[in-house]
Amino acid sequence: MIKEKIQQLSADIFNEVVANRRHLHANPELSFHEVATSAFVAGKLDELGIEYKKMADTGLVALIKGDKPGDGVVALRADMDALPIFEANNVDYKSTNEGVMHACGHDAHTSSLLGTAKILTELKSEFGGTVKLIFQPAEEKLPGGASLMIKEGVLENPKPAAVIGQHVMPLIEAGKVGFRAGKYMASTDELYVTVKGKGGHGAQPQQNIDPVIITAHILTALQQVVSRFADPKSPSVLSFGKVIANGATNVIPNEVYLEGTFRTLDEHWRKEAHIKMKKMAEGIAESMGGSCDFNIMHGYPFLINEEVLTAATRGHAEDYLGKENVVDLDIWMAAEDFAYYSQVADSCFYRLGTRNEARGITSSVHTPTFDVEEDAFKISTGLMAYLAVKQLGN
Ligand SMILES: [Zn+2]
Ligand SMILES: [Zn+2]
Repeated sequence: MIKEKIQQLSADIFNEVVANRRHLHANPELSFHEVATSAFVAGKLDELGIEYKKMADTGLVALIKGDKPGDGVVALRADMDALPIFEANNVDYKSTNEGVMHACGHDAHTSSLLGTAKILTELKSEFGGTVKLIFQPAEEKLPGGASLMIKEGVLENPKPAAVIGQHVMPLIEAGKVGFRAGKYMASTDELYVTVKGKGGHGAQPQQNIDPVIITAHILTALQQVVSRFADPKSPSVLSFGKVIANGATNVIPNEVYLEGTFRTLDEHWRKEAHIKMKKMAEGIAESMGGSCDFNIMHGYPFLINEEVLTAATRGHAEDYLGKENVVDLDIWMAAEDFAYYSQVADSCFYRLGTRNEARGITSSVHTPTFDVEEDAFKISTGLMAYLAVKQLGN
């Protein structure tokens, strides 16, 4: 039975996967600068005798072909970049690159996919079809490594019928995984807004155009885009986390600067909301005698897990781990560049539980105390191998 073989191989390589993860964790690199990480991955692929190609500077794409007949192709994806965060954990494998930290678990994704590669290499005689391994750069930074890899042809020659991605989730206990079919994560756009007026003495408002009051109206009115124009059946979020009006008690400033984020799960509405927000902000500023530069930096699209693939993958995960270890996920309004694969190929992005309350491993991703329960690697490598060979019809 292929399942038992994979489970055995996965147990055999557990210590190696932990060691690889710790090496990557201690040596994190920022988005688009994953030079040593990429060389580390290349070295491991060389050891396994797996051929690979470089893509998007630091990305790698490799193929493992089973010995049995089969033309199916499935892609497995891991991301490799870290974040600009000072690690606060006191662990042996603490970041040695100060101010940079694997705080989103991409070290776990990369070491797990290397483990999966080892399992599949040893299992070649047991399956038919081709597994494409994608080690991509820069998930955390626009325009996103996934979009560059796709532009450079990562989803061609051969073209995968499915793309599967695994991401750590500190809300789910280690040993379990989570799935959601359909729309799962949000599109993200960054908003950079400057409201212009005419500054002056705070005691003489009649001689000035107060950009602070204009901004107050704009901030309040823009929430109507979410509460009145958006379809309540489809989530939207608009948040402004930065508002700078650098005047004083008695000084009205010339301008106010704002930064915010707009997120949703519908590409048509996303475009319409952009137009509405810009028009509303400009109109309010103009009606009050000022002006407004409303700039939108387009981020990742929304992420959709294709229904048929996700149902099948979930079924295989239940088969591999037991039904009790597969849970449902809620919609998650964060963004993820895996969304680019999901916009052009049937895709499934699932979550690997990495929580261990007893050991205090509960911190959210993107925080200085984030860590993963490494017991999760007992399933992360074998599960991906199993999902791939099942998807290939073995
Ligand atoms: Zn992240
Ligand atoms: Zn991430």
